[in-house]
Amino acid sequence: MAPTTEHDQSARPSTLLITGGAGYIGSHTCVALQAAGYRLVVLDNFCNSQPETLDRVERISGQRLTAVHGDVRDRALLDRVLSEQAIAGVIHFAGLKAVGESSEKPLDYYENNVAGSVTLLQAMQAAGVKTLVFSSSATVYGMPQFLPYTEAHPLAPVNPYGRTKLMVEDMLRDLQQADAAWRIAILRYFNPVGAHPSGLIGEDPQGIPNNLMPFIAQVAGGRRAFLNIWGNDYDTPDGTGVRDYIHVDDLAAGHVAALQHLQRGAGSVTLNLGSGVGHSVLEVAQAFEAACGRPIARQFAPRRAGDLPAFWADSSLAQQVLGWRAASSLTQMCEDTWRFQRGLQTAS
Ligand code: NAD
Ligand code: UDP
Repeated sequence: MAPTTEHDQSARPSTLLITGGAGYIGSHTCVALQAAGYRLVVLDNFCNSQPETLDRVERISGQRLTAVHGDVRDRALLDRVLSEQAIAGVIHFAGLKAVGESSEKPLDYYENNVAGSVTLLQAMQAAGVKTLVFSSSATVYGMPQFLPYTEAHPLAPVNPYGRTKLMVEDMLRDLQQADAAWRIAILRYFNPVGAHPSGLIGEDPQGIPNNLMPFIAQVAGGRRAFLNIWGNDYDTPDGTGVRDYIHVDDLAAGHVAALQHLQRGAGSVTLNLGSGVGHSVLEVAQAFEAACGRPIARQFAPRRAGDLPAFWADSSLAQQVLGWRAASSLTQMCEDTWRFQRGLQTAS
């Protein structure tokens, strides 16, 4: 099959390459993309996911996808996939994402997140595939100089993970500058939580969860005795940390909207994807208690090193440009997380 041409990028229904599509955000986005009529090729090395998740995506959507077990750092594999599958665009989720681990193993993060992105972009350029949605993070902003963060907030990440995201963003801006044919959406996610309402896919971290929502879900399910609340002396309404939680299905819908925007030729964009509302740790624990009908045992503990006190998104640009906004309430996020957690426990 001939390599994809730029003309193909606006053809519909088109085939997309989803790197890291078996992961938490990727799997939910695959469901949303299939519902929107896209054919999918998922490339994943399953370092932080299970192939079975892709079977579940197919079960939810009732549509098949093509799964490729491989690595974004494998240039020969990328060349083959990009030419054989007539790929019109790429959504690049693949990467490592644990903030703490990125300080312990920085080279793994630069290798996977930065070098992996260079290899992917080189392969895309060679194949003439120049439509890309990239998973960035609110972490690129660093210490808030004002809140909510707008896209114009200075970029000063405070950990290696965040710096890998900023490096890839900078690379994408340089690429766009050098070649206007690129259509790039940089999406800065806030705190994705929740699960698909079917309960079939969700977030199932290996080991002890670092993030708040999966940890609370495991306390509710009896897998952990209690929640440590890292700090109750922040300058926030109840003293606990404040974040912008966004339902993963809202985030998935944001990717579909961003991709359609690019395919319309409406220009490259950099957008915050958040709910625009901050919730404290205590508020999340209380909302989860209401959702699961069980108490969430908790205790206050010292602040976690490197944590920011509070941040949330100004997502008005995404609403203006894409006509997208996060619709789900914190209650919905907790209910869907709990349904998925119960399913995990029934299965094990
Ligand atoms: P995840 O770990 O669940 O998914 C990432 C997927 O990529 C996994 O399936 C993993 O096996 C795969 N992968 C990793 N390295 C790979 C490689 N070299 N080649 C092929 N596959 C590889 O993480 P997620 O939460 O779904 O995050 C997806 C993306 O969004 C990541 O880039 C992450 O940095 C970014 N992000 C996540 C969050 C969050 O809180 N979850 C917030 C902001 C940004
Ligand atoms: N948090 C907590 N206990 C935990 C995990 C997280 O109190 O076991 C707090 C954390 O200090 C922060 C909020 O919950 O204020 C969200 O943390 P998470 O790690 O989920 O997101 P991030 O800090 O990366 O935005």
